[in-house]
Amino acid sequence: MEEKVNALMLKSVDYADNDKILTLFSLEQGVISAKMRGVKKAGAKLKFAAEPFCFAEYILTGGNLKTVTNASLTDSFYPIRENIFKFYAASAATEFVLKFCPENAVSPGLFFETIRFLKSLAYSELPPDVLLLAFLLHALKEIGYSLRFGDCAGCGEPLGRVFFDFSTGCGYCENCRTESSVEISPVTYALLRKVSSFDLGSVTEKDILDLGVADNYYVRALKLSAKYLRTVAKDEPKSLKEFLKMCEF
Ligand SMILES: [Zn+2]
Repeated sequence: MEEKVNALMLKSVDYADNDKILTLFSLEQGVISAKMRGVKKAGAKLKFAAEPFCFAEYILTGGNLKTVTNASLTDSFYPIRENIFKFYAASAATEFVLKFCPENAVSPGLFFETIRFLKSLAYSELPPDVLLLAFLLHALKEIGYSLRFGDCAGCGEPLGRVFFDFSTGCGYCENCRTESSVEISPVTYALLRKVSSFDLGSVTEKDILDLGVADNYYVRALKLSAKYLRTVAKDEPKSLKEFLKMCEF
C-alpha cells in the first residue's frame, strides 16, 4: 500500500552499499523511519530527500520498515546550510525532536512550530539565537514541559528579585523561594517572558529591537532553557551546547 506524508528529514544513516535509513518527522504519523534505496549512487534523482532539513512530500510503501519510493520537495531551507549559526540552531531543533518526540506520536503543534522556525531561520535576517530561544520555549510546551514566566508562582505578587526553580519551571519571590531555586537576573526573566509569546510566523526585527536588551541576555536565556531541559528531561541536544559555545567565542 502506498501512503503520502508531509515530513521533515531529521537524520539519515548509511545502510548497505547505496541505501540510507531516514528518520522523518511527519505531520501525519509523527517520527517514523524509512529506507531509501540507491540514494548514494551518483545522479540519484531523490538525493535531495535525504538531505538535512529537507521538507518534502514523501511517498512510502511497505509494512514494518517503510521504503521511500518518491518525494517532491516543499522547501529545502537551503540558506541554513550557508551560515554556521543558522546550521547549529536548526540542528538543535531537529535534535530536540529526535530526542524528545517518541516514534509514531503525532504532534502537529510541534511539527508546524519546527517548520515555522526553519523558515524564519532560512529566509529572514532575524538573529538565530532569538529564533532558537522562541522555538525552544514553544517546543518545551509542546512536549509537556511548560516554563512559566509570570508573577511569583507562590504568592502571585509581581517579582522584584527572581528565584527560578528548574524542577518546576517557575519563578518565585524572595519570600516564597523554594530550596532548589536559584536567583536569576530579572532582565533574563523578563526577556524569557516576552520571547515565549513571540509567534515565529510573524515576529519582526522591530519586535526584537523593542525588547531592548544586550545580546548576551539571549545567550543567558538559552542557557537557562538548556539547564531546565537537563533538569526535567535529563538530556539536551548536543547542537544546542555547540551553538552556545559559538555564541560565547
Ligand atoms: Zn511569592
